[in-house]
Amino acid sequence: MRPVTTSELLTIWEREMNQPLIQKTLILLCQACPEMESNDVAKLSIGDRDVRLFQLRQWMFGSILKNIADCPACTERIEWETSIKDLRLPPVHNHEPAKEFDLEVDEFNIRFRLPNSIDISSVIANNVRQPDPRMLLITCILEARCNQDMYEINDLPDKVLKALDRRIEELDPQADIRMKINCPNCNHQWDARFDIASYLWTEINSWTKRILRDVCILARTFGWSEQDILKMNSTRRHLYLEMVNL
Ligand SMILES: [Zn+2]
Repeated sequence: MRPVTTSELLTIWEREMNQPLIQKTLILLCQACPEMESNDVAKLSIGDRDVRLFQLRQWMFGSILKNIADCPACTERIEWETSIKDLRLPPVHNHEPAKEFDLEVDEFNIRFRLPNSIDISSVIANNVRQPDPRMLLITCILEARCNQDMYEINDLPDKVLKALDRRIEELDPQADIRMKINCPNCNHQWDARFDIASYLWTEINSWTKRILRDVCILARTFGWSEQDILKMNSTRRHLYLEMVNL
């Protein structure tokens, strides 16, 4: 895995801006993981995918995440910062093979794998209004047996799916990053889910506007080409921008 250059990021943003979030996130990751086939990137578990997205975010914009949430009790807007280091994420492992797991629930025996980006995309595509979590679990079951006999996956009772849901959460904890929030106004406490994919794309969209504005100013002032300006590191670019403003 490697950082994505300014020019590559701008090209991906331009080409994929109208793609769904999951698709453009995978394209971004493929650019950062040239050692992996694109199909293998799509088959990373959501937790493994998100560990890579956090690494990419750290390379792009640093390790401090700025968060905003509205308190569900008193509607106060709360802003706080979290460091990616505090999330205690495991290191990125290259060439991670897709794993299979077993689960026993009473007389049932399930062979399954962890949900990946392809599963989430297909569940969203089939349930445009409200993604069905049961569908996602069923997609991840490779084989179901009841008292050693093959069992129809779609007919599995809820207790099995609930146990499977819990097991998947234990096996892929990075897929569900939560932050504890304490409202300074009313003291209400709650857990908020942190979605690195949508967070990162919101940042990329604002970054693009800034970088294009910088290119415009520097090209107009010094006559440099867009490619030459994008090749500069951000420190040097900012120093030139400061000189323009003198
Ligand atoms: Zn509050």
